Amino acid sequence: MRRALSVATLIAVVAACAPTPQPNLAPSDASTAAAASRVTEGTLVRIRIKNNDQKLAMLADGLDLFAIKGDKADAVVTAKQLTKLKADGYSVEVLTAPSRSRGGLPAGYRNFSQIVTLMRTWQTQYPDLVKILDVGDTWEKTTGKSPNNDILALSITSPKNPGNKPAMLFMGGVHARELAPVELTLRLAQKLIEGYGKDPAITQQLDTREVVIIPVVNVDGRMQVEGGQQMWRKNTHPFTGGTGVDLNRNFDSHWAYQGVPAPAGWSDSRWESFKQQVMDPESDAFSGPGAGSEPETQALSKLFAQKRFTLSVDLHGYGEMMIWPVGHSLVPTPHEGLFKKLWQKTAPRYRGGTSMQLLYPTSGTTKDYAYEKLKSPGFTIEVGTDADGFRPDFSRLDKIWAELGPGLGYLVSIGDNPNAVQ
Ligand SMILES: [Zn+2]
Repeated sequence: MRRALSVATLIAVVAACAPTPQPNLAPSDASTAAAASRVTEGTLVRIRIKNNDQKLAMLADGLDLFAIKGDKADAVVTAKQLTKLKADGYSVEVLTAPSRSRGGLPAGYRNFSQIVTLMRTWQTQYPDLVKILDVGDTWEKTTGKSPNNDILALSITSPKNPGNKPAMLFMGGVHARELAPVELTLRLAQKLIEGYGKDPAITQQLDTREVVIIPVVNVDGRMQVEGGQQMWRKNTHPFTGGTGVDLNRNFDSHWAYQGVPAPAGWSDSRWESFKQQVMDPESDAFSGPGAGSEPETQALSKLFAQKRFTLSVDLHGYGEMMIWPVGHSLVPTPHEGLFKKLWQKTAPRYRGGTSMQLLYPTSGTTKDYAYEKLKSPGFTIEVGTDADGFRPDFSRLDKIWAELGPGLGYLVSIGDNPNAVQ
């Protein structure tokens, strides 16, 4: 259990002491940055795992393990957790020590304001092809703290065949610290927009379907990262004991593992302890006070209901995995065969499977929501290598895009009716 005065607790304390923000302040205003700069960050570490029991024990203890591969896993830990891991005899390698000296974003990355400018430029340059949709408000916007924090989408489709075209969704930036996905969604948008009228396949696709792209879902969290909180993952909704809800655990699909029995190999007590930690505001996987409690989740859920996406892809970092529903079970869904085919066509070099098969049980995620509510394929794609981490050198994006871009293009090509894939 994490009962120490942790990063999240400190954030809550700092937030409580911060001056009341003026309603007209921009989201990246100085007071937010100043508050952020006083908060201690988590440390990214790589832990050696000797056996499955050690892994389950760490998960049940509330460690947010990810990029689990073979005998190692990465985690963002507090100073206290790091000390405990070492005291417990684990071999722990520190990958990224807390450091604010490098600033918010590595060189080359666009900040949110530049991304919005780019989206507006596309809309102006290609008025028949590109429309910006205001999908909804972030938590900070609903509370008046950051009036400009809208969740914005690009709707890309030609005026041909007007009416109800099949729509598909690509999104990035659900987890604020994962930087590559945001840029990859923009590259996909650019490829489609500039390819229309030149590339016959893209032209046909945009004549017959709508591609919706949300580069940054978690705008409030993104502002924290841009302000120097490099390991920020959740939104910024404060609770007693911690700040932020993990938006990719907040959706109304077995939220907080409701109705999910202990998976095979888990003792009941370990399962209870594991489930408990997603109810803890201090956890990086805090699922929120209820299913769909967060404005960001509500905005996306509304968009899903409106557009009835035939396919949705949620880009994350890192670990080179393509993950499909459902996250809380080892038992394949009836669509496992289809998911495997799409994986092989999209990212064959990546590992593929459900979250439970590849990492650990998850629930309330975007992909499970898409699958359980719309009965449509939903994927999480974890881009980047372990060496890339959350913040790949910008030059690495060319390589990641060169490999994954064709796969995303493939998903667009079958996205009008993925169930017909043979
Ligand atoms: Zn993520």
